[in-house]
Amino acid sequence: MKFDPLNRWSEGAEKPLIIAGPCSAETEDQLLETSKAIKELDISIIRAGIWKPRTRPNNFEGIGLEGLKWIQNVKKELNISFAVEVATPQHVEQVLKHDIDILWIGARSTVNPFTVQDIADALKGVDIPVLIKNPINPDLELWLGAIERIYNAGITKIGAIHRGFSSHQKSKYRNMPAWQLPIELKRRLPNLSMICDPSHIAGDSNMIYDLCQKALDMDYDGLMIETHRDPANAWSDAKQQVNPSQLHEILQKLKVRKSVSHDETFNSRLEDIRHQIDQADREILECLANRMSLVKKIGECKKEENVAVFQVDRWNDIFKSRAEWGESFNLDPKYVTELYKIIHNESIRKQTDLMNKPTVHTA
Ligand code: PEP
Ligand code: MN
Repeated sequence: MKFDPLNRWSEGAEKPLIIAGPCSAETEDQLLETSKAIKELDISIIRAGIWKPRTRPNNFEGIGLEGLKWIQNVKKELNISFAVEVATPQHVEQVLKHDIDILWIGARSTVNPFTVQDIADALKGVDIPVLIKNPINPDLELWLGAIERIYNAGITKIGAIHRGFSSHQKSKYRNMPAWQLPIELKRRLPNLSMICDPSHIAGDSNMIYDLCQKALDMDYDGLMIETHRDPANAWSDAKQQVNPSQLHEILQKLKVRKSVSHDETFNSRLEDIRHQIDQADREILECLANRMSLVKKIGECKKEENVAVFQVDRWNDIFKSRAEWGESFNLDPKYVTELYKIIHNESIRKQTDLMNKPTVHTA
């Protein structure tokens, strides 16, 4: 069976699909009051963590089973849906028993194929929407593998949640967005619903709006935003949660983009510019091929003279001058530097190959 396409489970739903709610269910009152305020914003899917995967023990590890009963009560009172994280087959069994509408698999579970398979096995025979967060580490195959396991269990409504990736590098984000990974996932599974979780990417409530807008600019299907009636006193993830009125402000300000347009003038303009981009790309590749033939020539020279391929002074010169040239063409020097790292790597590889190839002597 061909894995792609998956059903786009939010298809037909108004875009973007918004899921909001507290990081954790804390008390029945907190859950009810927060959900009520969110429902007033016309949002009908609430998230709430019941079991919290914490990095260190002795932090609040979730309210557990009792919270599922609160959810049942709030559902009855407000007529809304709930999404809950599951990390074990027992969690799956409990959420199914308590009428939870959507499950999600957390980043710390997606990294472990055994865990994902256990969850998938527990889901056999039920068709409930399942959202799969990216793994903690920037490993696309693990994310894809988890999606495949859930799909193979017979789940048809699958979405991916982009919540960012841990990194040892210092960054303004709690978890680096690495947008190229979800973009590649979408390229591989074009019909997959993509949801952005700006809260866990940012780790800071002040950055939520910008991340949401970026996700909409990238044509994501939905947003999952941690929302708490009193973020400062939340039992988990206090810094990154917004209150319902901040959520309202964010949603009001967001500009929703269309996936495609049916305006003919626009489409023909787009086609014309794309044609020019195609042309520019051919020219770039022609230039690169020309550069590569010069690299070959210089490699042969170095080989004849038995001179090392890598020369640090020349490399530093290239880095410096290309970034400056780029800047004079209004190109971001950081972008030009990254580009040249790739170009230079390939140049070193080509020359090293050439240096170590036995010389063929022709008579
Ligand atoms: C959460 O959604 O509260 C959570 C624990 O998320 P993640 O798995 O992305 O860390
Ligand atoms: Mn959280």
